[in-house]
Amino acid sequence: MAPITFEHLTKRFDQTTAVDDLNIEVADGEFLVLVGPSGCGKTTALRMLAGLEDITSGRIFIGDRVVNNVAPGARDVAMVFQSYALYPHMTVFDNLAFSLRNQKVRKAEIDRRVRQAADVLELGDFLKRKPRQLSGGQRQRVALGRAIVREPKAFLMDEPLSNLDAALRVQTRAEILRLQQRLGTTTIYVTHDQIEAMTMGDRIAVMNTGQLQQLGTPEELYEHPANTFVARFIGSPAMNMLPSSVIGIGGTGQLAGFRPEHVRLGNGHAGSGSLDAAVEVVEYLGDEQLAHLRLGDHEIVVKLPVEPRLHAGEREQFSVPFEKVLLFDEESKQAVGPAA
Ligand code: ATP
Repeated sequence: MAPITFEHLTKRFDQTTAVDDLNIEVADGEFLVLVGPSGCGKTTALRMLAGLEDITSGRIFIGDRVVNNVAPGARDVAMVFQSYALYPHMTVFDNLAFSLRNQKVRKAEIDRRVRQAADVLELGDFLKRKPRQLSGGQRQRVALGRAIVREPKAFLMDEPLSNLDAALRVQTRAEILRLQQRLGTTTIYVTHDQIEAMTMGDRIAVMNTGQLQQLGTPEELYEHPANTFVARFIGSPAMNMLPSSVIGIGGTGQLAGFRPEHVRLGNGHAGSGSLDAAVEVVEYLGDEQLAHLRLGDHEIVVKLPVEPRLHAGEREQFSVPFEKVLLFDEESKQAVGPAA
């Protein structure tokens, strides 16, 4: 186990700056999620940490050692990919044992570590099978097992759940969390999925166009996004963003951001802004309804209790408590602060 530090980490490919002056300190035993849209540089950052990509400038520390020039195999980190990258002709046992045999670990020790990993991952019954005889979820557990047996200083995971169906993703997400809590191994987890980021990360680093947008706990990012990018990237449906004059608060050149769940039906609530809106589409979800509203040129989404039901084509009054509104500078896109 070890802390990991990215210090002014930069990677350029010809004209593209894939990672731009990234500074992150990951604490020993922390589960840090790197999240952002496709192309934001998260995989490149992880690959530089693993030693699979050269560093243009900056430094990476694993513990207190600078690893910029350390060979991948000597960095003592274990990577888990989206493609499980299992050896198809080998049994589960041999897949798990492979890296340890390469390192000339004693047979009894290999046996102990493989059985322990199989036990943690409930793979004990499958040790004699080949990967093709396993489900997708079981294969991903073998891929995790291969990382675990190495007892590395850190786990590096790159979208490990994206090949699984929705139900299995939720289940495996919880398994990875339980595993990480039990082993206490520093983990950096890359995903484009903000729900994975929110549910798994002790802290989340949000990236866009190679640059760190914000680093914080899930609560910090949700409650206090640093800019409009984080505000809209974290949370689903996304935070609504309107010129602040539309709800009658804030100054010129400011945007008012508010989450769909903070809008109420009806106006006249004290300390709230009023919205007169046309209901365009209603999505009924059983326990709540999402209504897509039009206010002149603007569209917003609101999340309301199922009763009273809204219907497309209706015109309704809504209100937003000012204390739930965050103001952003229209030009710089940076957060200005709460509206009230
Ligand atoms: P995704 O989720 O789609 O994998 P990502 O956030 O992981 O995206 P990266 O794969 O890190 O993004 O890519 C960051 C940027 O660097 C992109 O613009 C990409 O096109 C570019 N890039 C990545 N690898 C190379 C390469 N080998 N040569 C040139 N450009 C590259």
